[in-house]
Amino acid sequence: MNLHEYQGKELLASYGVAIQRGVVLEDISNFDTALGQLKEETGTDFVVVKAQIHAGGRGKGGGVKLGKNDAEVKEHANNILGMMLKTPQTPGGLEGPGKLVRKVLLTEDSYAPDFDACKEFYISILMDRGRKQNVIIYSTEGGMDIEKVAEETPHLVHKEYIDPHLGLQGFQMRKIAFNLGLSGKSFKEMCKFISKLYAAFVGADASLFEINPCLKAGDDSIIAVDCKVSLDDNALFRHPDLAAKRDKTEEDPAEVEAGEFGLNYVKLDGNVGCMVNGAGLAMATMDIIKLSGGDPANFLDVGGTADAERVENAFRIILRDPAVKCILINIFGGIVRCDRVAQGVVDAYKNMGDQIQVPIIVRLQGTNADIAKKLIDESGLEVQSAITLQEAADAVAKVIG
Ligand code: GDP
Ligand code: MN
Repeated sequence: MNLHEYQGKELLASYGVAIQRGVVLEDISNFDTALGQLKEETGTDFVVVKAQIHAGGRGKGGGVKLGKNDAEVKEHANNILGMMLKTPQTPGGLEGPGKLVRKVLLTEDSYAPDFDACKEFYISILMDRGRKQNVIIYSTEGGMDIEKVAEETPHLVHKEYIDPHLGLQGFQMRKIAFNLGLSGKSFKEMCKFISKLYAAFVGADASLFEINPCLKAGDDSIIAVDCKVSLDDNALFRHPDLAAKRDKTEEDPAEVEAGEFGLNYVKLDGNVGCMVNGAGLAMATMDIIKLSGGDPANFLDVGGTADAERVENAFRIILRDPAVKCILINIFGGIVRCDRVAQGVVDAYKNMGDQIQVPIIVRLQGTNADIAKKLIDESGLEVQSAITLQEAADAVAKVIG
């Protein structure tokens, strides 16, 4: 689960990490109150307006604007609220439709009053699965183009691996501060910043923190100006306060709906819809579709009880995707009997009438597979049955050409 920048900053602040302070605004009619609150809390003269969407690169797309006076700030807020913001990271990139901005963050200008003395760093924390360790990735070249830095000057990107038993050690914080070229007050501030940031990462069961830029301000304080936070979904039950920050409007609507039906669905880019019971079989099904020259449109695990209702819900979710050219249903009848699933498919198909416009290929294997095949073949519906996975994949390949 991803957090908005303002929510990520709330989390960081609760661990004592210094952040660029701000106030959220959803409706321009509350602008004066919000601005007044920000100025009272921070005493700032200049205010930055930042679009809150689940995508980075907002600065490049015109979603981060500095206002020199109240009227300018209001104009920026008014323009950004409700805009379709296109950034390199929104769906389809700068050529895509963009993402609707529902909230903006009014923040203090952390670079004032001594802009020239400011320095932007890059700091992120994530899990390196290969090494089974968390890693802090950092660079002196913070700001908007870290991808370019990593590609063209990889020696400027440093990594510090954390031993899971020992945790982050003092010498590691000092090494990071040193490699970032800091000394004196800013060196100490950076050590403190890293230590608290790491505590927040572990404490929140996060899977990614990305602070870009992390700012050394004119007074040598170290501040998180931007933050991207991803949390581990499997640990959310331990953090009801963080789980409550979920913004479903930012997520794929089909994935949200699938979650409500208790189906595990992940949308992909291909054109063969998949409905499978069991995550492992679903992965294998996607592999064989690929090997047969097709491209899976989704991952979908209907779970152990594939009855008519679940099958129908699964059909609806798969068919929301206009790219789907055919659907492959692959069920292994171990606990669930194949004939029950086949009946489910037939019933769901009949219920949905002409909503199903694409060919359907069903492969049922396991308990009562032969009865199931007969049920489907005799249903009179345009459903092809197959016994082996390869037969099913070949049928798919024939349909999509
Ligand atoms: P992103 O483009 O989505 O990564 O959004 P950021 O929050 O990183 O903002 C983009 C850029 O705007 C940053 O790299 C900064 O250079 C600039 N920026 C952000 N906050 C401030 C601020 O308080 N003052 C000034 N002068 N620039 C800022
Ligand atoms: Mn950023």
